[in-house]
Amino acid sequence: MNFTLSPEEETLALTVKTFVDTRVEPQMRDIDKNNHIPDALLAEAAGLGLFGISIPERYGGSNLSRLGRVLVHQMLGRSGFGFAGALASHTGIGSDALVAIGNEDQKSRYLPGMATGALRAAFALTEPGAGSDAGGIATFAEKRGSRYYLNGVKHFISGGASAGLISVVARTNRDRGAREMSVFLVEPSFPGFRVGSLYETMGSRGHPVAELLFEECEVPEENRLGEEGKGWLQTTRTLMEGRPLVAARSLGACDRLIEISIDYARTRKQFGKAIGEFQGIQFLLADMATRTEAARWLTYHAATLADEGRASPQAVSMAKLFASETLAFVADAALQIQGGTGYIADNPVSRFYRDARVTRIYEGTSEIQKLIIGRAMMRG
Ligand SMILES: Cc1cc2nc3c(=O)[nH]c(=O)nc-3n(C[C@H](O)[C@H](O)[C@H](O)COP(=O)(O)OP(=O)(O)OC[C@H]3O[C@@H](n4cnc5c(N)ncnc54)[C@H](O)[C@@H]3O)c2cc1C
Repeated sequence: MNFTLSPEEETLALTVKTFVDTRVEPQMRDIDKNNHIPDALLAEAAGLGLFGISIPERYGGSNLSRLGRVLVHQMLGRSGFGFAGALASHTGIGSDALVAIGNEDQKSRYLPGMATGALRAAFALTEPGAGSDAGGIATFAEKRGSRYYLNGVKHFISGGASAGLISVVARTNRDRGAREMSVFLVEPSFPGFRVGSLYETMGSRGHPVAELLFEECEVPEENRLGEEGKGWLQTTRTLMEGRPLVAARSLGACDRLIEISIDYARTRKQFGKAIGEFQGIQFLLADMATRTEAARWLTYHAATLADEGRASPQAVSMAKLFASETLAFVADAALQIQGGTGYIADNPVSRFYRDARVTRIYEGTSEIQKLIIGRAMMRG
């Protein structure tokens, strides 16, 4: 299989790498500390067109191929997950349902703003009682006249407090089983919508996760995406679009951690020589690089299959599982290579170590990825 990028995509990936290394990374210490991304930095990202990579060109986006999006997310991951988070849900799970099944009216109302970053998007599926078991959601949308009234609670929603548009998954029929659900486009100004708690997370800081409360939240019928009751299929698809991007960000973080580790191993001296001359350290570096390369191939493979119209849930889950588990290993090894220095809170490696943890949890835990892979194997 060839992993071929258009010249424009290659240029964009390089531009994003430079932007992340020279503009984002120097600000990550403050972003992590304050759990806040400066507006000026988001404006720079917008200027590079980063908010529009998944939006069709006719609405102002660049509609990159799946592999192109993976490359961009890989570069974003080079500064960890705090800044990347702001673009992650917006260009992945936040915009996917609208792009995939929105009608012309819905697309022309929202996508142009999303393409420039003026309107930020989030995706709300998880609830206090339904995480891995997404079919267990309790948020209910009752239709009365030309409106739906949503009642329920969503939590851990990335960027939920700053989003201008939230794709909310809710049940629309109590009798039709776990997979009966619909997706609604909710604006924060809709009556009955409220942001609840903002959570302090151990890592991935900058783009806080929020609790969202729906109390008789009024949503006009024209803001329902697709057919009523068919939201499960769309939600599965949305997660399929998002997971390779989690893998890609993990990959970018691994790349950066390996670079940092090589630099450190070359300069730190113990027992009269650079620690990189010890075979024990070289073995660690070799394992970090080898696993990262394997993760790269799985991730590009999953994206390329989707570009060729052969999207595979199994390939997507393998990429997400392996890349996120690889990042856990690489972050731990990078910290070990720096010894006590790596454990100091101000050291970027300790930030990456904290950021890394979430990749094995969100958009489906490692265990859920294994279930998807295993079930596909049993089906044959
Ligand atoms: C920083 C962050 C950002 C997030 N952003 C979003 C967002 O934008 N939108 C959104 O909708 N959600 C978001 N989430 C929620 C995230 O997707 C869920 O946390 C995740 O799906 C796991 O659900 P849970 O936390 O309820 O854990 P649970 O589902 O309660 O799982 C607990 C443990 O049990 C294991 N487990 C569960 N079922 C099985 C099984 N059948 N077999 C084996 N093991 C199992 C899990 O793997 C896990 O180890 C975010 C979470 C975090 C932490």
